[in-house]
Amino acid sequence: MPWPCPQDGTEVADGTGTCPLCGYVRIPSGLALVSAVSGKEMQVRIDVTLGSGGFRQLDDPEARYVSAEQCQLRKVAAMGGWIIQNVPHASNPMYLNDAPIEPAGALLQEGDRLSIKGLYFRLSVRLLS
Ligand SMILES: [Zn+2]
Repeated sequence: MPWPCPQDGTEVADGTGTCPLCGYVRIPSGLALVSAVSGKEMQVRIDVTLGSGGFRQLDDPEARYVSAEQCQLRKVAAMGGWIIQNVPHASNPMYLNDAPIEPAGALLQEGDRLSIKGLYFRLSVRLLS
């Protein structure tokens, strides 16, 4: 859905997080992660460390490749949204759009794809307004 910029009322197009007029950045209130295998989704609205326990609700058998602590999701206003970062001691790193995630973390965008090494436990990202 298009959204109104709170600073100048500009209607900003769906899928765009920044007002083209004033540069206001809308921070998504949360994320939904959708399993490619089960089609189920889970929603995250607070900073959290996710692993095999938290991901169990997705009913995705490939969650067996996920470590007990796998990744952190954090809302970072200065970066304009939600950041994913691998936990250093996870056995298999999570990839973003089939590429390794930088140690400093990466900003998640609508439609991004997460996976274990680009192969397993494939999730798609939806931003929650
Ligand atoms: Zn604006």
